[in-house]
Amino acid sequence: MLGLGGRIYPRSHALSFERRGDRWVVKTEKGEISGRALVVATNAYSGEFAKSLVPEIATEVMPVLSWQMATQPLSDNVRKTIIPGRQAMSDTHGELYFARYDARNRLVTGGAVLGPGDKTGRLKARVTERLQRLWPQIGDVSFDYVWNGYVGMTADFLPRMHRLGPNAYGWTGCNGRAVALTIPLGRELAKAVQGVPESELALPFTEPVQYMAHGLLRKLAPWMLLLYRQRDAQELVRGDRFELLRWAEYFLASRRSR
Ligand SMILES: Cc1cc2nc3c(=O)[nH]c(=O)nc-3n(C[C@H](O)[C@H](O)[C@H](O)COP(=O)(O)OP(=O)(O)OC[C@H]3O[C@@H](n4cnc5c(N)ncnc54)[C@H](O)[C@@H]3O)c2cc1C
Repeated sequence: MLGLGGRIYPRSHALSFERRGDRWVVKTEKGEISGRALVVATNAYSGEFAKSLVPEIATEVMPVLSWQMATQPLSDNVRKTIIPGRQAMSDTHGELYFARYDARNRLVTGGAVLGPGDKTGRLKARVTERLQRLWPQIGDVSFDYVWNGYVGMTADFLPRMHRLGPNAYGWTGCNGRAVALTIPLGRELAKAVQGVPESELALPFTEPVQYMAHGLLRKLAPWMLLLYRQRDAQELVRGDRFELLRWAEYFLASRRSR
C-alpha cells in the first residue's frame, strides 16, 4: 500500500466522517483527511475509540475479550507427539479448545476467563490443566506470552457488510475467525471502491441490525461462557453414555457370534 502511494496515520483516531461535495472527509483529533472513497474496517473496536464514528455498526457487534497465549518452545521429542502434522486444531466445545504451533515450536492456545482479580494467573492455571489433560507428555507448562483483544461477535455469528453512502463501505463481525476472511474481503471492498458493479461483488450487503440493549448485553455477554461450559459438560456426559452403549452393543454382538 505504501509502495503505491498510500499513507498510514497511526495513533490518530477517526472521530467522525461526512460527505463534502464528492469527497469523504474523516475528522481526527489532529486534523482532517479527505478521500474519494471510504472503508470503515474498525470491526470489534467500532465504538471503542469514538462512539460517534459508526454507531449503527458499533451496536450490531458485541466486543468480547478473547485471550491467547504461547507456551515455552516444546522440546523436539514432545513436539513430535503433540499434533505431529503441525495442523491448526480447534474442537467443537462451546468454550473452544484450540492450538497451533509458531515457528519456534511454541504451542499457541488460549481461552476465556471470567470475573475480577488475577485473570492472567487464573487463565494460565486453567489452560495448563487443559494442556496436561489433553497431552500428559507435555510435562510442566510455562507461558512466554499472554495477550488479549476484542473479537466482534454478531448475533448470528456471521460477518456483516454495509453500504454507508456513495463509494463508502463498512464491515464488522469477525466472530473471532477473520484472519483469512479479511484478505478476500479486503479485495472485494477494494473492487467496490474502484467502481466494480455491486452485482459482480461477492459481498452480500445488508442493513445494520443492532443488538437491543447493547450496553447491558455487553456486560452480560461474557457470562455466556458459564452456559457454554455447562453444555460442554453435558455433552461429555452424553458422549460417555453413548460410548458405554456402544461398548454394551459390541459386547453383546460378540457374545452372540460365538
Ligand atoms: C486474542 C485473539 C485471538 C484471535 N485468534 C484468531 C484466530 O486464531 N484466527 C482468526 O481467524 N481470527 C482470530 N482472531 C480474530 C482476528 O484478530 C480478527 O478477525 C481480525 O483481526 C479482524 O481484522 P480487521 O482488520 O477486520 O479488524 P482489527 O484487526 O480488529 O482492526 C481494526 C482496527 O481498527 C482500528 N480502529 C478502531 N476504531 C478506530 C478509530 N476510531 N480510528 C482509527 N482506527 C480505529 C483499531 O485500532 C484496529 O487496528 C483473534 C482475535 C483475538 C483478539
